[in-house]
Amino acid sequence: MMEKLSVNIFEENYSRIKEEIALAAEKSGKAAEDIILLAATKTVDADVINHAIKSGIEYIGENRVQELKAKNDFYLPVHKHFIGHLQTNKVKDVIDKVELIQSVDSVKLANEISRLAENRGKVMDILLEINIGNEESKSGFCEEEALDAVYEISSLKGVKIKGLMAIPPICEDEKILRGYFYKMHKLFVDIGAKKIDNSSMDILSMGMSEDFSQAIEEGANLVRIGTALFGRRNYNI
Ligand SMILES: *Cc1c(COP(=O)(O)O)cnc(C)c1O
Repeated sequence: MMEKLSVNIFEENYSRIKEEIALAAEKSGKAAEDIILLAATKTVDADVINHAIKSGIEYIGENRVQELKAKNDFYLPVHKHFIGHLQTNKVKDVIDKVELIQSVDSVKLANEISRLAENRGKVMDILLEINIGNEESKSGFCEEEALDAVYEISSLKGVKIKGLMAIPPICEDEKILRGYFYKMHKLFVDIGAKKIDNSSMDILSMGMSEDFSQAIEEGANLVRIGTALFGRRNYNI
């Protein structure tokens, strides 16, 4: 059954967010079309997501393997990314279901993705997740490791690095927050300038419900938005 309330919330939020993205894009010298809006779909029913797809959402991101497995067969055609922490023993559950894995946070994980992709005769697009705030609680490559990681992972035949992803620390101070986004953008540009074989810095994925405008202004070209699109999550699901 379609949840009317969620759908109405979505419609209102979607048009407002599109306007905010266009405004932020303009401030950073980009066009609205240069920014990918990826709907973060955790805990949201497949029905509601399908409505969002019909309304124009072209990219969705799942962050839990179990949820992806449960909902995947119900989705209308859409670009699907995996955005959550992925254990190496779960790669087999996502590799045939998504077109890009944003959350590659170790060389070990990249190796396993590459191995399984090669078995299937394909190449998996990936982003490297950067722990830009050096937080203990978060996984990802630290800023200083990023370049070496790109060199090492780009030698794998079954993956292609398409860019970087980050979830900066939660912080109240907008200046500090922008500082993290700025550092990510600089890393993205610096690594891109090296023109490393089998890698390209096309996608800079950062910015969520609370901070996507700032992220775009600092250089993001893919934002991952959940709550601001679908309303507060129901964790009882
Ligand atoms: C849930 C999630 C988002 C979206 O977060 P909101 O604050 O709900 O917009 C973005 N990225 C990842 C990796 C997520 O898990």
